[in-house]
Amino acid sequence: MNETSDEHWMRLAMEHAIAEKGTDPANTPIGALIVLDGEEIARSVNHTARDCDPTAHAEIETIRNAGEKLQEMRLESATLYSTLQPCGMCTFASIWAGVSRIVYGAGRDDVHEMYFEDRHLSTLDYVSDAYKEDLELVGGVLAEECAQLYYRPGDDVPEDEQAND
Ligand SMILES: [Zn+2]
Repeated sequence: MNETSDEHWMRLAMEHAIAEKGTDPANTPIGALIVLDGEEIARSVNHTARDCDPTAHAEIETIRNAGEKLQEMRLESATLYSTLQPCGMCTFASIWAGVSRIVYGAGRDDVHEMYFEDRHLSTLDYVSDAYKEDLELVGGVLAEECAQLYYRPGDDVPEDEQAND
């Protein structure tokens, strides 16, 4: 898949996030999409606050939707698109699902540190090394547009909004 189609799918993920959650960073509009053989299989946004479920990240929800739709647990040769760099949980869920590529928009340096669970070591750096034969990671697709949906590195975010929901 070339850069142009990555941008196409990323734009759809971004538009879906905005359609579901608006553009206010307080609502954490994160969108994800799974594409297989040039076709969209599933999409979702994060529902952690709505469902009181810390695992209801956009990427996890999308993997669940894709499995249900395909009636297949493995998503081999699928690409997962996410408007924000996936966390460790979602990256490992992708590995369990057999996803072949993860493409994300804004990276950890583009947004506030509240979005990431790790402190001293990037999970993605670890995964890109340990699983490099299994999973291709591509970051920075429409990064600036995606980053505008989130709190930025210098933003003074109120403590009670730092839940990444
Ligand atoms: Zn996640």
